[in-house]
Amino acid sequence: MMNIGVFRAMAIALLHVPPLSLLFVETRRANWILFVAFYIVILFALGAGLHRYFAHRSFEANRGVQFGFGLLAAAFFADPIGFSGRHRLHHRYSDTARDFHGPQRGFWFSWIGHLLEDGYAESELLAATPDLVRYPELMWLHHHSYLPGLLAVASTLLLGGYPTFAAGYCLAWCLVAIHGSSAVNYFCHTIGRHRYDTGDRSTNNLFLGIVLLGEGWHNNHHHYPAAARAGFFWYEPDGLYYILRILSWFGIIHGLREVPDAARERGLLRKRDRTARAS
Ligand SMILES: [Zn+2]
Ligand SMILES: [Zn+2]
Repeated sequence: MMNIGVFRAMAIALLHVPPLSLLFVETRRANWILFVAFYIVILFALGAGLHRYFAHRSFEANRGVQFGFGLLAAAFFADPIGFSGRHRLHHRYSDTARDFHGPQRGFWFSWIGHLLEDGYAESELLAATPDLVRYPELMWLHHHSYLPGLLAVASTLLLGGYPTFAAGYCLAWCLVAIHGSSAVNYFCHTIGRHRYDTGDRSTNNLFLGIVLLGEGWHNNHHHYPAAARAGFFWYEPDGLYYILRILSWFGIIHGLREVPDAARERGLLRKRDRTARAS
């Protein structure tokens, strides 16, 4: 049987081919509008669904909506139990030898290597997600997340045609699922502002905070991961949180956890300490 790392490397390489082919294929404005739509949907599926809901339980949803979040992530080849297990262990072991996400194994491992090699045993992932493994439908997604993924690839290709597939699904997927999340794993533990004394090297990165709709306010997030928002102040835009707020107005989700004032003030580093701790 083919090694899972080799299979993942081939799949990742393959999904980069259509975006590169856009240099030679004629596209229309509609394709790029769909790119923006896909970009926001994938970012929501991974950032709000997998990260803020499944990994951190920062708001509540009924079982149907929860499965919807799971399916949406699986449409982009991700699964709630696998992601949450790995991510909770990242928070537990941040910037130590047991942290598989971070920059301590070097740039390339942090960017691509950790995607090919899990780093944690299946039993560790399941032990870290007892609140998720009790749902059979989430276990099913854990073992079959490639099925909704393949279905989404086929339907985008059939319904939207090749340019939509290349500019919408593939380019947005590569930018968010691979390079966006790796940029957070690497740059949000190396470059930026270390506002809170979190005991690790997490940073708030202005550029990633904006282009990843809030996911770049990573030092804030390490400081108080239970919150549904990562932008703690008005000048830290958090697009994913705004979308979650709108969904809560419609009753689709509820119980969004906020950052208590005391937590917002606790652990603030003095200005001169901020860079020193991050480097
Ligand atoms: Zn982190
Ligand atoms: Zn997190």
